[in-house]
Amino acid sequence: MSTQANTGWIGLGAMGWPMAGHLHAAGQLKAVWNRTLNKSAAFAEQHHDTLAATTPETLAERCQVIMLCVSADHDLESVVESMLPSLQPGQVLVDHSTVSPAAARRVAERLAEREVGFIDAPVTGGVEGAVKGQLAIMAGGDWGTFQSVQPQISAYARVTHHLGHVGSGQAAKAVNQLMVGGIAEAVCEALALMDKLDLPREHMLELLSSGAAGSWFLEKRGRTMLADEFDVGFAPALFLKDLKICRSLCEEAGFESSVVHQAITDYTTLVDQGEPGKDISALIRLKRQ
Ligand code: NAP
Repeated sequence: MSTQANTGWIGLGAMGWPMAGHLHAAGQLKAVWNRTLNKSAAFAEQHHDTLAATTPETLAERCQVIMLCVSADHDLESVVESMLPSLQPGQVLVDHSTVSPAAARRVAERLAEREVGFIDAPVTGGVEGAVKGQLAIMAGGDWGTFQSVQPQISAYARVTHHLGHVGSGQAAKAVNQLMVGGIAEAVCEALALMDKLDLPREHMLELLSSGAAGSWFLEKRGRTMLADEFDVGFAPALFLKDLKICRSLCEEAGFESSVVHQAITDYTTLVDQGEPGKDISALIRLKRQ
């Protein structure tokens, strides 16, 4: 293990596992913890010299920098609360989960009580971006603290920007998710119409991707959604969580968003219908109904 390895990773889900893998490849990873312990054990088995911590507290005792990628506000806050007694002044936590800016600020305040730094750093680029180490990362927090974790973040980022105080990264992610919601609505609806009009799928996918309608979502998910495959990607329930964060920020800003309204209506229906797909492109099923 490299002498520089001083970083811990919490949350080995669809995003966290490959991101932690890049950190390991960069010689930076010391320990991992995942709530479901057999995942952290499997990760440690596949990544030599990585400790599978059995609690977040033991990880916090050993690592100077701790990266997190869990699900929602309460998940982040509960993990941080459990680590708090073990943290020492000068340590830094970086959160890659998508949570509300308010939760990011609450966590930063709790950590500041122990003189521990915090950066909110949500990501975009999907599971594919995480696997390739090509994520875009939007960060908020103290500038010097942000600079100090660049070696870790650069292991899996294609582009990173510091956007301001704590919570700015999460506000930026909400803007990103508004756009993703609109694109998902448009692409799923258009491909459902395309099928109704009996247009040839392969030719149409090539044409649509090559012109002004082209997008990441169409390129990565167009073919799979037409084949009714929704196994890899971003869970509709997680996206609904993001859209609700975006709606709260719109309300705070006195801003009307028809895109967020429509996407929340549709993804609520999808989740309520027990949509088993693991990706938001399962929206096409609703558009076909
Ligand atoms: P995921 O596959 O569902 O993984 C979630 C991870 O968080 C798992 O390791 C889970 O542990 C852990 N976790 C959840 N609640 C926890 C709690 N209360 N305490 C401790 N650990 C907890 O989700 P994901 O797709 O990796 O997404 C992770 C975050 O990145 C989310 O905030 C999501 O919105 C965001 N994001 C996802 C994508 C995407 O394309 N998937 C893209 C950008 C951003 P267990 O294994 O025990 O369940």
